[in-house]
Amino acid sequence: MLYIDEGVLLKIAEALGDEEAVKVIDILKNSNEVTDDEIANKTGIRLNSVRKILYKLYDHSLVAMRRTRDENTGWFIFHWKLQPDQLEGFIISQKKRVLEKLKARLEYEKSHDFYYCFTPGCKKIPFEEAVELVFRCPTCGKPLMHFNNDKIIEILTEKVEQLRKELGE
Ligand SMILES: [Zn+2]
Repeated sequence: MLYIDEGVLLKIAEALGDEEAVKVIDILKNSNEVTDDEIANKTGIRLNSVRKILYKLYDHSLVAMRRTRDENTGWFIFHWKLQPDQLEGFIISQKKRVLEKLKARLEYEKSHDFYYCFTPGCKKIPFEEAVELVFRCPTCGKPLMHFNNDKIIEILTEKVEQLRKELGE
């Protein structure tokens, strides 16, 4: 049995956008090799969904697959195996992607002055655009007022720093 952190499993499931992936990975990490049928039986997840999850994991090289033929039916049997050494690399690349997005957002927040009508659901508008709109919200028509984004910048900076530390940058 492999030791894989629960947090790691959750992060992978999040990255794949699939809660059922946690259950599938859980079965994989407790088996040396397992078929999609066995995973479906053990988790109660529909075989089709199990296969979709497995192919997603396969796309990211997180699992290895071996194919054999059933001697009685002639059908293919797919055997799946977790590639634990790939998990860390996958998480690192996910973190790098998030970091790039956060850095771009931080840069955007830092380099713009924002105006806002303070109506929930309306957008904050950069100064240049607000001028063209004569400081009227294009959505609700209320006047646009200066919006202090110091707090957003502070939170983004903290997140960027934290990720940089985790990635050893
Ligand atoms: Zn508005």
